[in-house]
Amino acid sequence: MQNPEEKYPAPPFPDQKQTPPGTEGELRPKADHGEDSYKGSGKLAGKKAVITGGDSGIGKAVAIAFAREGADVLISYLSPVEDEDARDTASYVEQAGQKAVLIRGDISKEAHCKEIIEKAVAEFGQIDILVNNAAFQMARKTLQEIPSEEWEYTFAVNIHAMFYLCKAAEPHMKPGSCIINTTSVNAYSPTPLLLHYAATKAAIQNFSANLAQILLEGGKGIRVNAVAPGPIWTPLIPSTMPEPETFGENTPTGRAGQPAEVAPAYVFLASEESSYVSGATLPVTGGRITI
Ligand code: NAD
Ligand code: MG
Repeated sequence: MQNPEEKYPAPPFPDQKQTPPGTEGELRPKADHGEDSYKGSGKLAGKKAVITGGDSGIGKAVAIAFAREGADVLISYLSPVEDEDARDTASYVEQAGQKAVLIRGDISKEAHCKEIIEKAVAEFGQIDILVNNAAFQMARKTLQEIPSEEWEYTFAVNIHAMFYLCKAAEPHMKPGSCIINTTSVNAYSPTPLLLHYAATKAAIQNFSANLAQILLEGGKGIRVNAVAPGPIWTPLIPSTMPEPETFGENTPTGRAGQPAEVAPAYVFLASEESSYVSGATLPVTGGRITI
């Protein structure tokens, strides 16, 4: 047993800045995605998963865990600068003996969301697990500093894409399949720096709970849940937050979480062990309260 306050590096982190979307290569210290620690036990044997933003951060840790549990994984990501991160994730999936499929593009466009689902169906024949995890955020100090285009883009990436992907995937999901959406502690206690992002994360909570009702009607048998991470050490942070040095200080554990500490929540929600869980949000926040 290990004291959670001491398990991983705590602030201060080295001063650093990245250009969005950021990469794992530039992150100091390196994040832990469970590369050396996650042990599978066949919980997702034979399953086919789609993970948006699976190149880096939380999505990368989820991809590694899912593959070690026996799932094939399609990883969607945004930019050519993330090619190396995506290939690295794919290599861990393949080392686990599973199929990895990569697709790059902007999910704020419905046409690309359809393309992601079509590719998954072409490669896998079905979709058992859809993880809507990609998101955009940008810290802005005042209301006036938020460009209107950025407001719209944030909603397009974080919540419109979720609708497009769920809509395109549903016809290919059999009873027993599931959807897992990444929300945030910001849905409960919004930071003033992230007005637009926090609003999308609150929308994701409502969307997930409501879709959970819809997809358990008429024998559809698809569960929908969400995971609400607290501050997690990923490329998103030095590319969008003003003071990554202090990141995670505002949690009872006093430190940032690692992607490896979030991934098991997704494994639980994707596995048969959560067969009676739908419409729920699982907080993974280092003790930040979400009631
Ligand atoms: P990350 O940067 O590693 O992952 C986000 C990914 O989203 C990127 O890799 C990028 O490829 C993808 N993406 C962004 N815009 C996209 C677009 N337009 N089209 C397609 N893909 C796009 O960061 P992360 O922290 O692992 O983020 C994963 C999820 O976790 C996000 O939903 C984020 O809001 C959520 N989250 C993160 C934290 C945190 O502190 N890191 C806290 C709460 C919630
Ligand atoms: Mg990335």
